[in-house]
Amino acid sequence: MNTVEMLERLVAFDTTSRDSNLELIDLVESHLEAAGVSSRRVWSPDRTKANLWATIGPAVAGGVVVSGHTDCVPVDGQAWTTDPFALTLQGDRLVGRGTADMKGFVASALVAVERWTTQELKRPIHLALSYDEEVGGAGARPLVADMAAANLRPDYCIVGEPSSMQVVTAHKGIETYVATISGTEIHSSLAPRAVNAVEFGARLVTALSDLADQRAAEGPFDDDFDVPHTTIHPGVIHGGTALNIVARLCEVELEFRYLPGESPDALRTKIEGIAAEIAGLMPDINDVGIIVRRRAGFPDLDTPQDSPAVAAVEALTPVAGTSKVAYGTEAGLFAEALNAPTIVCGPGAIAVAHKPDEYVELEQLETCDSFMDALGESLTE
Ligand SMILES: [Zn+2]
Repeated sequence: MNTVEMLERLVAFDTTSRDSNLELIDLVESHLEAAGVSSRRVWSPDRTKANLWATIGPAVAGGVVVSGHTDCVPVDGQAWTTDPFALTLQGDRLVGRGTADMKGFVASALVAVERWTTQELKRPIHLALSYDEEVGGAGARPLVADMAAANLRPDYCIVGEPSSMQVVTAHKGIETYVATISGTEIHSSLAPRAVNAVEFGARLVTALSDLADQRAAEGPFDDDFDVPHTTIHPGVIHGGTALNIVARLCEVELEFRYLPGESPDALRTKIEGIAAEIAGLMPDINDVGIIVRRRAGFPDLDTPQDSPAVAAVEALTPVAGTSKVAYGTEAGLFAEALNAPTIVCGPGAIAVAHKPDEYVELEQLETCDSFMDALGESLTE
């Protein structure tokens, strides 16, 4: 089977994060088995999804982790001109959900397994596939923990998120929160006698905007990032039930995208401090206040430019140079858990990910196939 045929099969599984990925994992398992490679599943708590990892080559220290996620974002409400779950060739583009993000990379790696098994590797390639990347990385955490418990000591890791095959050494970290503002309900004609949760929610949003403005003005800055500072974004707000009732509840969802080097704990303390300050303006009565809950997060990635991993992966791809990207990935989790420098490099453009008519170019997949061959070759010495 070639990479395009494998991609066709992977795209045909609707692995939107809210649904099971087990049919895809079954396919991967039997594909690996046919190549004589045994694999291990790391289940989700409700066993509706699974991660999978496998070792190709000798079970010795060193080698490389090659990782991708199996889930994709929903197509709901998007204006696709093709069936998103049927791979469609248009000119030199393969169109379908997940082609760029990131079943193209996964297909290329799976097809490469057969070639790797004949390459007489002296150090192993650990293939690692996760679930739930698109919804906070719930899958990758137990996956990397399982791999760490197996005492793998890879020289480096590659996470194949779409980078147009350029070496990416760094990305921002993400922390997401929900702030729940509790007020008191009353007929709106008596509004001054109650605590309007919507009003206090609005104060919280304004305070967050002030903090965001301050970061934009004062930094810290890293000009290698497109947006060179930490951003704070309140993306969703819900509150109130009717105009003639003072709102008892308001919820604000917010995210930080922070520069490598910033402490997510310090950011958390900051947002909790802001919430406490605003809650302090509420009258002193029972059950009013603001509770901030952390929802999810991805650590930042910050692989030093002089890390041997950077040179090693640069040697595998024809695309010159390195970059830092704005989007988050599982790379920071791999780096942290396996204590190994981690690089993001994969086919397709991030600009088409998550969009209708997402595509990967044939040429990108060919480059990725050569990348996989060169990776195997690099481990034969
Ligand atoms: Zn992705």
